[in-house]
Amino acid sequence: MKQLDDAAAVIAFDPAVFEILRHPQRTVETTFPVKMDDGASRIFSGYRVQYSNARGPYKGGIRYHPAVDMDEVMALAFWMTIKTAVVNVPFGGGKGGVTVDPKKLSLGERERMTRAFIRSIDDIIGSKKDVPAPDVGTGPEEMAWIADEVSRLRGVADPGVVTGKPIEAGGSEGRNKATAQGGMYALQAIRAAGDVPSPARVAVQGFGNAGQWIARLLAEGGDLVVGVSDSKGGIIKEDGLDVAAVTSHKEATGSVAGFPGAKTVTNAELLTGERDILVPSALENQITAENAPRLRAKLILELANGPTTPEADAILRERGIIVIPDVLANAGGVAVSYLEWEQNRTGAHWPESEVLERLATIMSEATVAVRERALRYGVDFRRAAFILALERLSEAIKSKGWV
Ligand code: NAD
Repeated sequence: MKQLDDAAAVIAFDPAVFEILRHPQRTVETTFPVKMDDGASRIFSGYRVQYSNARGPYKGGIRYHPAVDMDEVMALAFWMTIKTAVVNVPFGGGKGGVTVDPKKLSLGERERMTRAFIRSIDDIIGSKKDVPAPDVGTGPEEMAWIADEVSRLRGVADPGVVTGKPIEAGGSEGRNKATAQGGMYALQAIRAAGDVPSPARVAVQGFGNAGQWIARLLAEGGDLVVGVSDSKGGIIKEDGLDVAAVTSHKEATGSVAGFPGAKTVTNAELLTGERDILVPSALENQITAENAPRLRAKLILELANGPTTPEADAILRERGIIVIPDVLANAGGVAVSYLEWEQNRTGAHWPESEVLERLATIMSEATVAVRERALRYGVDFRRAAFILALERLSEAIKSKGWV
């Protein structure tokens, strides 16, 4: 809400539109029992927030994490509303989650829990209504179960009810790397504007889907990935990490920690080290008023959602550190989700080259539009992205006669 206020302070918006955007349209909290492997039944809490469908069906991922609660899901659903408007895909914003540590579930328990959660929200999702996708703790496997559960419940195949599916279950080529690839396109367009050397020294916080791919793509593009981390710790190698080898090490051991030849560091050290580019790719609220004065990066590419607190954001602005904000930087994920949904609507399957070409167009148009607002209003890229989104949301809300 602070981010929305900041953007609205720059340019006059109809207060009625603003008021609509301050509130989610629908919040749903469910509890559902799941049979665990030991035969006992356990109750889980699930959430789905449908923030806005002003620009199209609600769209947003499903998160499995022990810290998931209604507040977090609501914030994430709001950001999805902004993000789909920034990249101009015909969706609104939503998000969902289950309060659980998925690593503590067996494969069978994870599947039964996913299916039970979907049954608990089946009446509010649909390819023309609300389209979930992966987020932290979920991936293609869960998406395939969701599509299957919905088709069983309704007796019709409707693969577009969820995106981020495996290729063989109606997924799109390029979806696995889409978020990072979209971040690369935004970075390429903006990096020249700052004093960022090439090759750049890069640190990536979080080594899941988004983090692994961005590390790989940056290294392939000639940058030096000197540090990465995950929830179990971080590693630094000043002359550059072999990203493929770190990925294999994580697959084998469950963490990047202990990678041979690298120095072990805490997440705090990883963030504040001497780097040109910092890529937060883990969770919210990692860059705070406490560590922002000590960050030594020239540019921050926010692949995670909400990694920077509003207080930290003000400090970074003052310090002249360029921030490519989450609502632009990680929008490649939802952009390719849109392309997957589009393919599902017609039964098409595009080659990866076509998907990436379309993604590049979507991301470069969005980045150009954000930069244009930043120059026009003399603001940072985050406020510029919010202004762009507010313009598009206002038009949609007014054209529908909601105000
Ligand atoms: P993921 O579950 O695949 O990976 C998350 C990673 O973060 C893991 O490596 C985990 O160990 C690490 N992590 C967790 N807590 C940490 C901590 N305190 N310090 C350091 N590392 C920590 O999730 P993901 O899909 O890669 O998503 C990561 C971020 O990117 C989230 O904020 C998500 O909302 C955002 N995002 C993802 C996508 C996507 O398509 N995957 C799209 C848009 C935004």
